[in-house]
Amino acid sequence: MSASQVEQLEQLEQLGQLEQLAPARPQRLQRIEWRRLCLSSVVLAAITALILWAAVADLLQQGRLAAVLSAGWGELAAPLLIALVVATGICERIWPAEPRPVLARGHVQDACYLALHAAVVIPLMTLLSVGAASLIGSHARWLELRATAHWPAWLIIPLTIVAMDAANWLAHFADHKLEPLWRFHALHHSQEELSVLTSFRAHPLMHTTGFILATIPVVILIPTRAIAPVLITIYVCIGTLQHANLRWTFGPVGRVIVSPAYHRLHHATDNQAVNLGVVLTIWDALIGYARFPARRHPVGRTGLDGRPVPVEQDGPPRPALLLLADQLAEPFRTHR
Ligand SMILES: [Zn+2]
Ligand SMILES: [Zn+2]
Repeated sequence: MSASQVEQLEQLEQLGQLEQLAPARPQRLQRIEWRRLCLSSVVLAAITALILWAAVADLLQQGRLAAVLSAGWGELAAPLLIALVVATGICERIWPAEPRPVLARGHVQDACYLALHAAVVIPLMTLLSVGAASLIGSHARWLELRATAHWPAWLIIPLTIVAMDAANWLAHFADHKLEPLWRFHALHHSQEELSVLTSFRAHPLMHTTGFILATIPVVILIPTRAIAPVLITIYVCIGTLQHANLRWTFGPVGRVIVSPAYHRLHHATDNQAVNLGVVLTIWDALIGYARFPARRHPVGRTGLDGRPVPVEQDGPPRPALLLLADQLAEPFRTHR
């Protein structure tokens, strides 16, 4: 079948006329579906698989796969983080920015993302950082700054965490500026009912660029040392609190640390080009992207205008897991 015939079939399908061609439907439709698979998303999935393969091969060779995965859960599902999520959930019931039922559709859907995060995303994140470090270590060893080996830990470790936050800001900036990355990041922004659980509403493939970029300062600054797991957990806790359904601005501290009110402005329906900070606001302030909220400001709507990603608030309720599968498949479709 020629390209023009396939195009004609697509047009007929859009017009709802494909029924007339019923005998030939399965094979032709299959070809059309493949033509609709988004190439850039497939490439990102392939890059992610490559990094994961490098990590698993490396760790299996060293006999450390189980230990590293367990350490990853220790950092990213630490009791401190679980306690923070529970405490924030209680605060949301007492002082909500937007009052809504506990079982609001957005909360139920984001709880599914929390389960996905615990089962799939935490091991993925752990292997991504190991794989990125392994690839950078074997192909770009010249990046390592050996002089910092003599610097005291109280100086070099905070410096590395600040540099990692800058890398995370850059990855977030790229998520908004580059269409192939926005396809994956849009799911996070599609939430119309923000809560602390929205921190876990992210496509697993959204993390690839962030972990590659955040590994670079670690390889440069502390090639022979490690950041204490508790510091990573504290960093993740601050990053998790920002989605809370609270009006908290953190007062003067909010000029430096991202608060729920500050991050809510980034989730506005019509403008996501401000407040890209992950934990620190300084990168936004330096570039001129910072908009600091005040408690007197009204609570704005969140989500994406036009609902380009299927959302739970749209139409009659759908089974949460079916919708989750639909949302995860969305970046791979070309018809948006
Ligand atoms: Zn964003
Ligand atoms: Zn967010």
